[in-house]
Amino acid sequence: MCGIVGYIGEKDACGILVQGLKQLEYRGYDSAGVAVFADSRIQVSKTPGKVSELEKLLVNVPASKIGIGHTRWATHGEPTIVNAHPHTDCTGDIAIIHNGIIENYAALKTKLISMGHHFKSQTDTEVLAHLIEEFRTDGDSLDIALRRALKEVDGTFGVVAMSATEPDLLVAARRGSPLVIGLGEAENLVASDASALVKHTREVIYLHDNEIAILTRGNVSLKNLDDEVVEREAEHLSFDVEQIEKGGYPHFMLKEIHEQPDTVLNAMRGRLLRDVGISNMGGLRDVEERITGAKRFVITACGTSWHAALVGKHIIEQCARIPVEVDYASEFRYRKPILQNGDIVWTISQSGETADTLAALREARSNNVPVYGIVNVVGSTIARESDAGVYIHAGPEIGVASTKAFTSQLAVLNLINLLVSRKKGMMDLQQGRAIIDEM
Ligand code: GLU
Repeated sequence: MCGIVGYIGEKDACGILVQGLKQLEYRGYDSAGVAVFADSRIQVSKTPGKVSELEKLLVNVPASKIGIGHTRWATHGEPTIVNAHPHTDCTGDIAIIHNGIIENYAALKTKLISMGHHFKSQTDTEVLAHLIEEFRTDGDSLDIALRRALKEVDGTFGVVAMSATEPDLLVAARRGSPLVIGLGEAENLVASDASALVKHTREVIYLHDNEIAILTRGNVSLKNLDDEVVEREAEHLSFDVEQIEKGGYPHFMLKEIHEQPDTVLNAMRGRLLRDVGISNMGGLRDVEERITGAKRFVITACGTSWHAALVGKHIIEQCARIPVEVDYASEFRYRKPILQNGDIVWTISQSGETADTLAALREARSNNVPVYGIVNVVGSTIARESDAGVYIHAGPEIGVASTKAFTSQLAVLNLINLLVSRKKGMMDLQQGRAIIDEM
């Protein structure tokens, strides 16, 4: 879940969006982008890497008084220019930015492609742009189309949309991913975090789940997804920026500890099939047979991830009855490990860049053993060099001592255990379902 900023007013939108995105940089991100309305069309600028790179691109963009900006923390599709937000529909009339995960994006994408839509990215987000296009019939306003589109969607979203045919309007909606509206003088803003707004206003309205906000220069109105008007008084923000960044907690680690109910849910989102009492992870689908038939797992990791591996060993040996060896990656790489046919090496790393774990991965690969990763950062080196793997979807972790990434690693190890135990017949349908119900 990364950074969102939207602006509609009389000032230079690019400048305000870039300043807001810079304010959100502390959250961590992998790419950035902006869409503005200028010369009668939506103009999108995106880049992998830093907001300062984006700023250089924006020098050539004509002045505009409306726009949306995003810093992305990839969950679906690597951090590339094409996958960076904003995303557009087929015609380029609609641009959207999104935080969160669209769980049923694969099914929606297949359906939209069969209806003739053309996709450019690998993201889950892009389905939203095409759904809005599809549902915007007979000159309907953007908010109506967005509301219809969101009814089709399972998962979480903080989303902001704009359209060239309605250039005096921004529409925002949320479910499970925060959005806050900033009320100004002849200007209004929306952001994923109030720290991006306080330079412009301290009068804010927090959007609740399943609500849509319609922003024009002079007005903000709220509705729910059933099209009923919602009344909410604005609040005055008295916190300073530093307090807002930490979500009211004295430090990031405490904030991340409190994020765990959401992050654990994100690790499991869309991956539990209750009907058949089993888990389902896209990144392992092609290697399920191989995992089930393994003679031994070797899990290699460092630090907190190594502790997650120890819990994984306990669960997997007990339920799936596959012998599991847990190895400190820094030892593994130097001690000439014995790896044999039938072994699978798993690496666990929050960043996906842990040097010893990466070296262990390469050591295993040079022994011709399959290596599967359990990683947080999409497109990281370990993710790229693994034969297959699972992302834990914990979002950026700023605290050096891991908390939410650790519990998400445990959630994923439990999903892997459920998959293997069920496939190996060590757990029957009822037991599988009982575990899913507990999760
Ligand atoms: N799931 C989206 C993507 O991978 C949004 C990521 C985010 O929240 O930054 O593009």
